[in-house]
Amino acid sequence: MIQDVLNELHSRFASLDEGEVASYIPELAKACPQDFGIAITTASGRIYEVGDTRKPFTIQSISKPFVFGLGIKLLTPERLALKVDVEPSGEAFNAISLDPDTGKPRNPMINAGAIAISAQISAHDPLGADQLVLDFFSELAARALEVDQAVYQSESETGHRNRAIGYLLRNSNIIEAAPEPGLDLYFRQCAISVDCRDLAVMAATLACQGRNPITGRQPLSPDISVRVLALMGSCGMYDFAGQWLHDVGIPAKSGVAGGVLAVVPGRLGIAVYSPPLDGFGNSVRGVAVCTQLSHGVGMSLFNQSPQAGNTIRRVYSGSQRTSRRWRSERELALLQPHRDRLRIIQIQGVLDFAALEQLAAAVVALPPQTRVLILDMAHVTELPPSSDELLNRQLRLLLERGLQVLVSRAGRLAMFQAAGQQLEGLQLLDQLDFAIETAENLLMEGTSGEQPISTAADSEACFLSRLPSESRAALEALLLERGFQPGEAVINRGDPGNELFLVRDGLFSTHIEFEALSGEPHRTRLATFGPGMCFGEIAFITGNRRIADITAVDGGRCWVLQRSDFENLQERQPAAALDLLKALTCDLGLKLSQTSVQLSRSELV
Ligand code: GLU
Repeated sequence: MIQDVLNELHSRFASLDEGEVASYIPELAKACPQDFGIAITTASGRIYEVGDTRKPFTIQSISKPFVFGLGIKLLTPERLALKVDVEPSGEAFNAISLDPDTGKPRNPMINAGAIAISAQISAHDPLGADQLVLDFFSELAARALEVDQAVYQSESETGHRNRAIGYLLRNSNIIEAAPEPGLDLYFRQCAISVDCRDLAVMAATLACQGRNPITGRQPLSPDISVRVLALMGSCGMYDFAGQWLHDVGIPAKSGVAGGVLAVVPGRLGIAVYSPPLDGFGNSVRGVAVCTQLSHGVGMSLFNQSPQAGNTIRRVYSGSQRTSRRWRSERELALLQPHRDRLRIIQIQGVLDFAALEQLAAAVVALPPQTRVLILDMAHVTELPPSSDELLNRQLRLLLERGLQVLVSRAGRLAMFQAAGQQLEGLQLLDQLDFAIETAENLLMEGTSGEQPISTAADSEACFLSRLPSESRAALEALLLERGFQPGEAVINRGDPGNELFLVRDGLFSTHIEFEALSGEPHRTRLATFGPGMCFGEIAFITGNRRIADITAVDGGRCWVLQRSDFENLQERQPAAALDLLKALTCDLGLKLSQTSVQLSRSELV
């Protein structure tokens, strides 16, 4: 589909034969005017290309934004600001456009600014600057690049105007030593040989805040990428920059060899190669393709779709989704009236400023009785570092308001790897189910003076207590107590099911492993049983093997009934055995109905 769009653009503009190939650098005049390539690299690293995308040409002025970025990286923005301004000049690329008072070039995208920066880099590393620049460009393009020696020689021999600029910069002390090394570096950087595909990857690296989507490496920091793009936006297209921003609306840079590099921040990089230039020095087909693309598929930065309701995926309450921690009747009695005091906000997408504003509004709209809030981050695709402070502020406000705040499934977001220490009272849980369990415990703790969770009272009130006393006594006589260490396996999948367990104290969890939708193995909890509850009954009744693992969470004790004892009981006291089977059937029915309810609810939330 994308490929079709590029193919159409290519055939549409291949016949556009206006413009002249640059000839003031003799070697450039040899370019073939028919050469025409278009390439796009997306933020996910996919490349689409059509036409002459593998034909080498020299990068020329498209080197300028990158060398500006390298200059900041090596020398700090402050140092560089002493040497070059960031104002559009409104003049040609080779104009001697210097501030009349300070002698500073107007911006890094005109030759004067670029030469001033190259001189700084050359002074920073007198012996290694050439290689430094080449390595940096190779990192950006994800391929080892080289200097086109013929073009370098040609420009070095004929670049008298650039030399004059260099000496003027020396005169005003913008260049503090002999200008030749800086000029030489400038000629070399302009003569780096690239193809259209390389430029698209370099553009995509800028689109991805300085991270190369092909290699995953980060040649530029996000902060520097922003500065580079801003400069490209205001000064990138020679004296056509204003019209370009108006017509196309994205940062771009062109070069006299016929390359145009454009960036849709956060999305993709575009490159066009076609040597004939218009009167401003921009590739005629390059301008046409980018203008058409921008209008055709809506790429202008000034044409963003409104972001209003796309951050809050759902807000639901603790009665719409319950944890897989099985609750005793006593716990349920405590919890049930308060479940709605738990709210879960499921957040999605990129958590930027506009998204955080939507979260703030969702928080304001929470019912006043809300006591526990879970922020479920599973569907947050990105939390830009610039959002850290605002999100922290939001979390602090919630805590100050007296809410218990739990954040679930946020482990992959950098901010939450440190937030636990920063924000006291904030709990991070890597599964939503555990967050809901914790929230339920908090709700119960807040509603009762006594210990609300998992007490001996629950184990006394176990389902055996509902058996006729004679049957109960007969069964109790057969139960053997067994203790378990924290994390100890009680039941392993595949084992014979010869024992029935009744929890005396502690918690026991059952897990299964299955393939997640992504294909990755996923381990999830099916249930956690507490005092008074029984487990292991399915295989015990059917005689089949165990179908899931069960472990003691923090250690605990169970009463265990052996199958052989049960079989003897069936012989000796069939009424007691039948009573147990009845009780187990009721228990299973209850578990099944609760599971079905959970399942149906989870389809909704
Ligand atoms: N090396 C070229 C010059 O300084 C670059 C010009 C350009 O691409 O704008 O003349």
